[in-house]
Amino acid sequence: MNTLTPSSRIGGFHKLAVAQRIERVAQFAGLSAEDQAQLAQTGNLPAETADHMIENFVGTMNIPMGVATNLRIDGRDRLVPMATEESSVVAAVCNAARQSYDAGGFVTSMSGTQMIAQIQLTGVSDPQHARVRILERLDDIRAMCDACDPVLVKLGGGFRDLEVRVLDTRGGAMVITHLIVDTRDAMGANAVNTMAEKLAPHIAQWTSGTTNLRILSNLADRRLARARCVWPLDAIGGAAVRDAMLSAYHFADADPYRAATHNKGIMNGVSAVVLATGNDTRAVEAGAHAYAARGGRYASLTAWETTARGDLAGTIELPMAVGLVGGATKVHPTARLGLKILGVSSAEELARIIAAVGLAQNFSALKALATTGIQKGHMALHAQNIAMMAGAVGGEIDRLTQVLVAKGLVRMDVAEAELALLRQA
Ligand code: NAD
Repeated sequence: MNTLTPSSRIGGFHKLAVAQRIERVAQFAGLSAEDQAQLAQTGNLPAETADHMIENFVGTMNIPMGVATNLRIDGRDRLVPMATEESSVVAAVCNAARQSYDAGGFVTSMSGTQMIAQIQLTGVSDPQHARVRILERLDDIRAMCDACDPVLVKLGGGFRDLEVRVLDTRGGAMVITHLIVDTRDAMGANAVNTMAEKLAPHIAQWTSGTTNLRILSNLADRRLARARCVWPLDAIGGAAVRDAMLSAYHFADADPYRAATHNKGIMNGVSAVVLATGNDTRAVEAGAHAYAARGGRYASLTAWETTARGDLAGTIELPMAVGLVGGATKVHPTARLGLKILGVSSAEELARIIAAVGLAQNFSALKALATTGIQKGHMALHAQNIAMMAGAVGGEIDRLTQVLVAKGLVRMDVAEAELALLRQA
C-alpha cells in the first residue's frame, strides 16, 4: 500500500462540524487556506440550512439565476427565474417568447397532479389470481393509503386509483401494483413512497407472495404538462425559416441520435426553472426522457406543424412532477424567492409555466440550428467564459470578449494572448 495516499475511509465524518469537515477535506486534497475560505463561503444558502439538507456538507455550488422576460402564458405576463450554468439558455427563451408575445404567447394545460407508486410482488405461481386478489382490496387500499397522509387528504389529495399489472420478466412473472395518488402541491415522492411501504406487507399477505421494491415511478404520465404556441410567419422570418425548422423537427422525431440533443435543449429550459424553484431536476428529467420513449422508440417531446394560415405551431407534452411544498422548495431561500417571482399559487400553475419554457427553448434551438447555426448565439456568451478562464477580471472581461468575437476565434490560447496585449496597452 502506498502510505502517501491519504485514506478516504473517514469514520464519523458526518458528525463533524462543517469547519472540521472542511479541514479534513483540505488535509486530504492539499487545499490552501484560500481554497478553504472559498468552500466556507456559502452565498445565499446559509451553511446551517445546507448542513440540514444533505449529508457531509462542506460547501455550496452557486449557479447563476437569470430571469426570462417576454413570456405571456395563459394571458398573463410572467418573469421566469432560471438557474443554469449554460450560456444562451435564458437568452433563447427570451427570444422565442418575444417572437410570440404579440400573437398572444403560450396556452397551457395539465392532465392532473397524480403520481404513481409501484409495489413489486414476486414468487407467486398464479400471478393472474394474485392480481385480481389485490384489485378486490380497493377499499382497504384506499383507506390505508389515505391514513398515511391526513394532511394531503385534507387538502383535497390522497389515493385515487389502483392498477395491477402482470409483468413478464427475465426473473419470471411479477405482479406490479400501482397506487395512484393525487399529491396536489407536493411533488409527492415521499408521500407515495410512504404509502407503498405501508401497503406492501398486506399485499404479500393477501397473495402469499414476496414484496420487494416500493417506490414511486418517475414516469409521471398522469401529471402531464402541455403547452402550445403559434409563431406568426412574419415574426420568425418567413416560410423558408419555418420549413427549415419543421425539417429539423422531422429529423429529431425520426432519429434518436438527434432526438437526444433536441430534447436536451428542451430540458435546458425545463431543468433551469425546476432548479430555480428548488424542485428535483433528476425526477423531471427521468420522467421526460422515459415519456419521450413511450412509443417504443425515443422521439421528440415537442411537435411542430404549419397552421392553415401558414404560421408555425408548436406543442409540448411531458410529465412535470414539481411542487410548491416538500424537498428544497420551502427550505432554500432562493427557491422560495424563485416561486415568489413567478407568482404561482399551485404546483399545476408552476408545471404549466415550465412546459411553456420548454417549448420556447425548443423554438429557439430549432430556429438557430435551421438558420445561422447554434454557435453564433452561443459564442458571444461562451467568449465571456473563455475570457474569464484566461484570467480577465473587471472591465477586461467585456473588452476581451469583444476582441474574441470580432476575431471569430473564441479559444483559450487566443484569449490568453489577447489579454496580454490588452494589459500591455
Ligand atoms: P414532502 O414529503 O417533504 O412533502 C409532502 C407532504 O407535505 C405531503 O405528503 C403533505 O403531507 C404535506 N403538504 C403540506 N401542504 C401540502 C400541499 N399544499 N399539497 C400537498 N401536500 C402538502 O415532499 P414530497 O413532495 O412527498 O417529496 C419530494 C422530495 O422527495 C423531493 O426532495 C425529491 O427529491 C425526493 N425524492 C424523489 C424520489 C424520486 O424522484 N425518485 C425518490 C425519493 C425522494
